[in-house]
Amino acid sequence: MDVLPFSHTWPYDVQGKDIYFESCPFCGTDHVLTHMKMRDLKLAKEHRKVNLVMPCCHEVMTILEADNDYMWANRPLRR
Ligand SMILES: [Zn+2]
Repeated sequence: MDVLPFSHTWPYDVQGKDIYFESCPFCGTDHVLTHMKMRDLKLAKEHRKVNLVMPCCHEVMTILEADNDYMWANRPLRR
């Protein structure tokens, strides 16, 4: 698989069974509780595509991969 560039990464936090973003990459809202489930995160870590709709701005993030700190999206999330 091609290496996805750092510009496509976004850090996340797990608290219990909840997955948080410190801020939304699209609208900048702080401390966003995502609708993502732990099983979705597990799929992403297995390189399965996961679509995540942000609860704050309803932007869709297509996640291609994840490790224990970052998710990789199919488009750049940072400049
Ligand atoms: Zn947002």
